[in-house]
Amino acid sequence: MPPHSSASPEKLLAFFGGTFDPIHYGHLKPVASLAQHAGFDQVILLPNNVPPHRPQPEANPQQRLHMVELAVAGNPLFSVDPRELCVDTPSYTIETLETLRKEHGEHCPLAFIIGQDSLLTLHRWHRWESLLNVCHLVVMARPGYQEQLDTPALQSWYDIHRATDAQQLKQNPAGFIYQVNTPLLDISATEIRERRHAGLDCSDLLPYAVERYIESQGLYRE
Ligand code: ATP
Repeated sequence: MPPHSSASPEKLLAFFGGTFDPIHYGHLKPVASLAQHAGFDQVILLPNNVPPHRPQPEANPQQRLHMVELAVAGNPLFSVDPRELCVDTPSYTIETLETLRKEHGEHCPLAFIIGQDSLLTLHRWHRWESLLNVCHLVVMARPGYQEQLDTPALQSWYDIHRATDAQQLKQNPAGFIYQVNTPLLDISATEIRERRHAGLDCSDLLPYAVERYIESQGLYRE
């Protein structure tokens, strides 16, 4: 069950993990809208390593980190935490969040942002059931993905933890799932890479500074 409300609202920090190969408006615009809706004080982007058995990103870790930094430069809502890219091995999200929980103390509300597609596969993540012990999950809508979870057990887990009001995120350190009807942007990093490989323009899908960097590095062309 979600924990009981604390008396005084605290600063609400939200972390947003991703491969970001590359970062795009489908990440940035829904998150900005979510931040307004849910009252996030800060969104911290956490670019991650990809386990060796999964298809590897085309951009290297330094390039992905640089693209994330360029995408949010000058925007006070966002900051970037490179910790997962600073180690050679892929980090499990739960372990990073447990470390963040220790760093911020037991009372600070922490949220982890995911898209609807990630919610649908969350039960395959390492120790996924521990996630709500250390953070809230905040879910962004994503076009093309069903709302219903795969099994009645997962659906009931979701229903038990669902927050009906964004205030619950600020009033509790962890334990709730909050879903917001963020703007639907049918954009994926896969589409951007494919467009680049086909020699097509991507300027409507990602910030200009990121597009320029991609061009200067010759990314997603081979
Ligand atoms: P790829 O196409 O390479 O799989 P992606 O575009 O899905 O990449 P990721 O870096 O894997 O991007 O995604 C990071 C997080 O952002 C995930 O939780 C994902 O669900 C979410 N996300 C990505 N694109 C969107 C989008 N268009 N709308 C909502 N959420 C999104």
